[in-house]
Amino acid sequence: MPDEILTDEITAGAVRFATVVVIGAGQAGLSAGFHLKRRGFVSALAAPDADRTFVMLDANPGPGGAWQHRWESLTMATVNGIFDLPTFARTPGSEDESSRDAVPRYFAEFEEAHPLPIVRPVRVLEAARADSDPRGDFLVRTDGAGIWRASAIINATGTWNNPLLPSIRGQESFEGRQLHTRDYVSAEEFAGQRVAIVGGGISAVQQLEEISRGAQAFWYTRREPVFLEHDFNPEVEGRNTIARVTADVEAGEPASSVVSYTGLGWSPYAIAARERGALERRPMFTAIEPEGVREADGSFTPVDAILWATGFRADLTHLDGLGLRNDRGGITMRGTQVADEPRIHLIGFGPSQSTVGANRAGRDAVRAIEKLGLGRSERNASRRAPAVGR
Ligand SMILES: Cc1cc2nc3c(=O)[nH]c(=O)nc-3n(C[C@H](O)[C@H](O)[C@H](O)COP(=O)(O)OP(=O)(O)OC[C@H]3O[C@@H](n4cnc5c(N)ncnc54)[C@H](O)[C@@H]3O)c2cc1C
Repeated sequence: MPDEILTDEITAGAVRFATVVVIGAGQAGLSAGFHLKRRGFVSALAAPDADRTFVMLDANPGPGGAWQHRWESLTMATVNGIFDLPTFARTPGSEDESSRDAVPRYFAEFEEAHPLPIVRPVRVLEAARADSDPRGDFLVRTDGAGIWRASAIINATGTWNNPLLPSIRGQESFEGRQLHTRDYVSAEEFAGQRVAIVGGGISAVQQLEEISRGAQAFWYTRREPVFLEHDFNPEVEGRNTIARVTADVEAGEPASSVVSYTGLGWSPYAIAARERGALERRPMFTAIEPEGVREADGSFTPVDAILWATGFRADLTHLDGLGLRNDRGGITMRGTQVADEPRIHLIGFGPSQSTVGANRAGRDAVRAIEKLGLGRSERNASRRAPAVGR
């Protein structure tokens, strides 16, 4: 019996305990849940008094993480590749199926095969330290499942809810439509229009290619896009990219998008856009006016819509109360753990922002937390023990 049905039994305002609270149940959260269970952690819903427990809190109404919200034309053929969840191969289906149907269905099958204590839809509003003891527990406050007291937190909240929207002079004066990648539905709604598409990433190129089939599309990027002149080699470039992103987050730098590290591949849609003459990049416009954009060279281009394909950043505002950020706005990491707080792990973050990365990060976070020896008996013992230095 899946634990989700216990949602109603968790009364708002009640404080419950779980050794580990996992926030988010996309690919990263599911991987963490799988490995917690494999290593003997049990459901805090079904066995609240057990020694080592965990619960997973997910804001989405059903399985699939952010995949359930991707735009329809992002099919299994146009995604970059979905890595299997731990030990659970995806049954190959139609390449034309939308990823927002295929991936959530696959996640649901995984959750059926590996029942996990997932409570949804429940949003974590904030996490804070329970008291002034730096070794003490955390309190995780939710919008519908009360407050959870936890010894460790694995955060797996992805990026989908934190779209990046640059601010450009005159933006509010625009009389046409502005939307972000995450609000894109289909190219049909732009048919016959003049559309400015902003951004140098994979989504920008995909949406440019689609929209330019039936509309006049203008492509703007801040920097000259770098296209790889050979096929992306995951063994070489994948490893190099991960090493560079890891070095940045371990140095406490705010992590950028993965494409800023890898460059763009000559995917079928990039080639199609180039052949249609749509892949003509313009330097970023300098201002927005009511009926269009002011180009870098001072000329004016009238547009009906501006699509901000400007990416996403880690969605971590609910952790603000933990004071994890450094003065550059980054979070200094060591592997999946926050550098000076081994009980907080960020997965699907920095170098693990991919399906394969999320899988591995979930496993690594659980291994690291297990080594800390957290559990109810340990917790009670540490409460009885005199504080170090007294
Ligand atoms: C447009 C796009 C296309 C991509 N294509 C690919 C691809 O082809 N291949 C690939 O490997 N990777 C791809 N990625 C990246 C990949 O989707 C993710 O890195 C990967 O799925 C890991 O997801 P996740 O679990 O970190 O996050 P998500 O799938 O975003 O899951 C996070 C979960 O956390 C929940 N959540 C968020 N905030 C809270 C909160 N406060 N409280 C409770 N729950 C919360 C959300 O509801 C969600 O269910 C793509 C990303 C984007 C944006």
